Amino acid sequence: MPKDVVFNESVVTLKQVIPLMMKYSVPVLPNNYALWYTYVVNSKPELNKEIDSLLVEKNQVSSHQVDSLYEKHLQTDQHHASQALTKSMEDFAGSISKSIGFTQEDTQKFEQAMDTVHSELNGMDSDAVEVDQISDFVDDLISQSLQMRDNAKGFSESLNHAQEEIKRLREKLEYTRQEALRDELTGALNRRAFNETVARLIDMENQDCALILCDIDHFKKFNDTHGHQLGDQVLKVVAARLSKYSNVKASTYRYGGEEFAILVEENASKMAAPLAEQLRQSIERLVIKDKKSQKQVAKITCSFGIAQYALGFSNFTWIELADERLYRAKEAGRNRVMAK
Ligand code: GH3
Ligand code: MG
Ligand code: MG
Repeated sequence: MPKDVVFNESVVTLKQVIPLMMKYSVPVLPNNYALWYTYVVNSKPELNKEIDSLLVEKNQVSSHQVDSLYEKHLQTDQHHASQALTKSMEDFAGSISKSIGFTQEDTQKFEQAMDTVHSELNGMDSDAVEVDQISDFVDDLISQSLQMRDNAKGFSESLNHAQEEIKRLREKLEYTRQEALRDELTGALNRRAFNETVARLIDMENQDCALILCDIDHFKKFNDTHGHQLGDQVLKVVAARLSKYSNVKASTYRYGGEEFAILVEENASKMAAPLAEQLRQSIERLVIKDKKSQKQVAKITCSFGIAQYALGFSNFTWIELADERLYRAKEAGRNRVMAK
């Protein structure tokens, strides 16, 4: 389907969705919007059935019901839905700001024309008979032209304001998009971001990239001994250490509970193993202190498995190879890097 057709449709839908949300007092938040958008386009008839019956019964859908409907029908599509929403909002904002640009130009021309008429009218010879005869008319015309000029100015100001608002919204959308790729606890990139980068690297057939898997050693025991909260702090600190690189193009992802992944995107055949070793040592040096006694309570170590990408790898075979090496690092006594 051509891009402008898709865009026009999304705007038409947006114009139906927003009034519906207003009618039922649903806050315009991304998940809520996705739910009502799906309702309007009727792409999930089961969802429409449930919403319709709630509306017939109670003439409203509570925020709790919105949440559970979202979870039930849209959770799995969340990523695509939020991408689609972001895209349609951006297109919409882009088109408005473009048309505002044109309108402002028109408004300025109109203002200039008004100024000219205004000064011409004021410049007429007031002693002339014709002017005496039509003075009421001229006065009226002058005041009308002044009024119109003021209106045009006000309109131009509100357009400027709208343009700023759109810019702010765009930035907020971009921020939300970035946030959706972050792990809340550690601030590292999340599993979704990891999947996207792996797919991109495979797609590019990037020959010199590598995956490093990193798993905290005996973390269950750490939690059992020192509590889950301190465990959470450790996860944050480890993520921060893993994100510090020198001269290497790589990003850190929280792959699972206490497992992290680092994707080295360039020069990996040379850099991945030394980098993993550097990170291993940096984590080993961490000092975990008790807040009250200020004494070191534990030592944290991590095991690493590295797999260089090879042509023909799928995401599954690539991750499996790194995982196999990580397992061997554990078997060999933990706190070590296994690259082969
Ligand atoms: P190994 O050296 O073999 O990796 O042992 P392990 O104990 O680290 O591995 P295991 O898979 O047995 O346990 C992982 C632990 O990680 C259990 C779980 O409670 C903990 N964990 C996972 N996610 C979190 C989290 O978000 N916060 C905290 N505090 N702990 C977590
Ligand atoms: Mg572990
Ligand atoms: Mg683990």
